[in-house]
Amino acid sequence: MLRLIRDGRARTHAELVELTGLSRSTVAQRVDSLLTRRLVVPAEPGASRGGRPPRTFAFNRDAGVVLAADLGATHSRVAVTDMAGDVLAEAREDIPIASGPEIVLAWLEETFDGLLKEVKRGADDVQGIGVGVPGPVEFVTGTPVAPPIMPGWDGYGVAGRLRDRYNAPVLVDNDVNIMALGEYWSRWRDTDHLLFVKVGTGIGCGVITDGRIHRGAQGAAGDIGHIHVPDHDDVICRCGNLGCLEAIAGGGAMATTLTNLGVPAQNSRDVVRHVRDGRPEAMRLVRQAGRELGGVLASAVNFFNPGVIVIGGDIAHADEHLLAGVREVVYRRSTALATRSIRIARSTLDDRAGVLGAAVMVIEAVLAPEAIDQAMAAPAA
Ligand SMILES: [Zn+2]
Repeated sequence: MLRLIRDGRARTHAELVELTGLSRSTVAQRVDSLLTRRLVVPAEPGASRGGRPPRTFAFNRDAGVVLAADLGATHSRVAVTDMAGDVLAEAREDIPIASGPEIVLAWLEETFDGLLKEVKRGADDVQGIGVGVPGPVEFVTGTPVAPPIMPGWDGYGVAGRLRDRYNAPVLVDNDVNIMALGEYWSRWRDTDHLLFVKVGTGIGCGVITDGRIHRGAQGAAGDIGHIHVPDHDDVICRCGNLGCLEAIAGGGAMATTLTNLGVPAQNSRDVVRHVRDGRPEAMRLVRQAGRELGGVLASAVNFFNPGVIVIGGDIAHADEHLLAGVREVVYRRSTALATRSIRIARSTLDDRAGVLGAAVMVIEAVLAPEAIDQAMAAPAA
């Protein structure tokens, strides 16, 4: 019922009865519970067709707030949002994730508290917390697992620490997953199946299916950076295998290749700068990386049949070169049916996708029917 009211599909008792098939008395009872919990509030009456207009309801986006964070390798974004996912206040800071969990999470808690104060809300208003980190996460426990670029975080109970402090549900996920959800939510909700590919130093992919993050059995779904690419067995990947996509087409690999060609580059941002400066070596390299990525995505398209592929991360800023390479190969190598209406687009949210996705992940969880039923069963605070 809450979903119907949130989506604006139902505004009155009569509409809820019609759409849910529940009895009038059950609907009335549940609406009363939602009103008591302030998840739903009375709204402007609907148009009257003579007689007394029916009571109408609307979702209360101010029923509480959500704390969201996207902790990146070198910089982080933090926000407080309302229950509809709109940002009320936000902060950004250059803080290396490699500083370790004690330093980073102490900073995060301080920042959350500051933002709450800014929007004149307290810890009691926090309905949930979502955090993205740049590494693999065991989603059920909210614990990073052997994250390569996060020394000190392996097995650290990120969710447990924040849950104890704010007494609210906490979800922790891989940054690419939350970016995928942020992109889906902000622009692509008309398609249920989306792939989000982040091309930064490494390459990762978030999978949205039926509007939800697909994590797989262990949370490792979408790790396309370590899919084998033919004809590159001379390249060793940081994972120990030969010929991984990331070791050939990732920003880190391209920076090394450019440097070896006499065009010095430290990281993916340098690669993009050289492309924008019109260095032919850099443009050729990025376009070829797009083709290699396109080869892997062509297989993914045949397998998963997404409606849209969104490309983000630093290298996506290399103008059209990366996307051109991707499109060229995906259209050539995927089946006609799978590519008939596929869209391949650049991220429009950029580095805000993660923090938005973290908020949406939490809102969807705390407003899910099971979570609401559970809260209803407990005595109202
Ligand atoms: Zn690898």
